[in-house]
Amino acid sequence: MTALNATHDPKLRSWVASANEAGCDFPIQNLPFGRFRFAGSNEAFRIGVAIGDQVLDLRAAGLVDTDDMNALMEAGTQERQALRAAISAGLAEGSEKQAAWSKALLPQAKAEMTVPCRIGDYTDFYTGIHHATTIGKLFRPDQPLMPNYKWVPIGYHGRASSIGVSGQVFKRPQGQTKAPDAAEPSFGPSKRLDYELELGFFIGRGNAQGEPIAIADAEEHLFGVTLLNDWSARDLQAWEYQPLGPFLSKNFASTLSPWIVTMEALAPFRAKFERPAGDPQPLPYLDSASNRESGALDITLEVLLQTAKMRAEGVAPVRLTRGNTTEAAYWTAAQLVAHHTVNGCNLQPGDLLGSGTLSGPEADEAGSLIELTLGGKQPITLPNGEKRTFLEDGDTLVMRGWCERDGAVRIGLGEVTGTVV
Ligand code: MN
Repeated sequence: MTALNATHDPKLRSWVASANEAGCDFPIQNLPFGRFRFAGSNEAFRIGVAIGDQVLDLRAAGLVDTDDMNALMEAGTQERQALRAAISAGLAEGSEKQAAWSKALLPQAKAEMTVPCRIGDYTDFYTGIHHATTIGKLFRPDQPLMPNYKWVPIGYHGRASSIGVSGQVFKRPQGQTKAPDAAEPSFGPSKRLDYELELGFFIGRGNAQGEPIAIADAEEHLFGVTLLNDWSARDLQAWEYQPLGPFLSKNFASTLSPWIVTMEALAPFRAKFERPAGDPQPLPYLDSASNRESGALDITLEVLLQTAKMRAEGVAPVRLTRGNTTEAAYWTAAQLVAHHTVNGCNLQPGDLLGSGTLSGPEADEAGSLIELTLGGKQPITLPNGEKRTFLEDGDTLVMRGWCERDGAVRIGLGEVTGTVV
């Protein structure tokens, strides 16, 4: 776990004025990484750090000599912390770098972002126990939570090729579905298209095949966190998921926020990992003192929806849910890394681990429409009178996340938007 240091000092301010505004996602205490280029250009994407409403070009600032984010992610903990310290010092009020680095800034409004790194492999977990229970009730009323759930972090191997960055527009997937009372499946566009509110954990340094990452070392292999919308076609999923799990219901698109908030930046926002009384304690390879002490993340997440009609009428997205990650996740990121590698599987820099849908315990904290609408049985009514059970063409989904605590400066994860057509 990263110790707090000068880069987390709440009194620290930046010479980039917008970074000091209250409620800003990217104050000098955050410093998330992304890949950008001048919008409308054909330049190669470069590594940038968000500061206020600007992007700092790390190469132009003389901080790195590469455009390869994966190479940067592979760096050891000390190297990463040294880079963070150098960026923080140079962006701080009174820094002698101000004149030179001012020329290495680009307004985010003029930047085109892409997925923050090359994602070799993507694994999606299922750590949201309230989500797993609610979904389980819908799919298997007799046995909502499978007997393995509280022992094994459940996951499946997803698909990296269809992962896009915020702003992604994708076509409604087609496929096989079968109504419960139908004799045979039919083919056509999904009628139950949903979103899943997730965090994405990016792997930094990998491990050699055959050499598991011990949970005590897992945080050193985690680079940082993004917002992840794991779009899901529930009708395809219900028909295809047994016996091997999700396939075409999940791999047509997944959307990420453009910025990776590093584990270092999240240091002030860690929380105890606790199991409810009576639940099994994790097996030793999934347990450590530091994981118990501060393995969880304290992040507030919210989901908003803007229909095509709202957009045409200039109406801002409306909030569907808001919740906190500490109540939602049954397993920590460190446990996912330890579990993923315990059999000898090798992770590589840039690999993405999805948390699974992070629904809170309350009904209005649900991280998907299938939960909010009780399996599509109870439509939600939007302020303009429109109703939704699942997503309709032209709907734009927005997810936001941020961390707030006494004694620390609020940092944000930015947002991820996506639109189905
Ligand atoms: Mn998912």
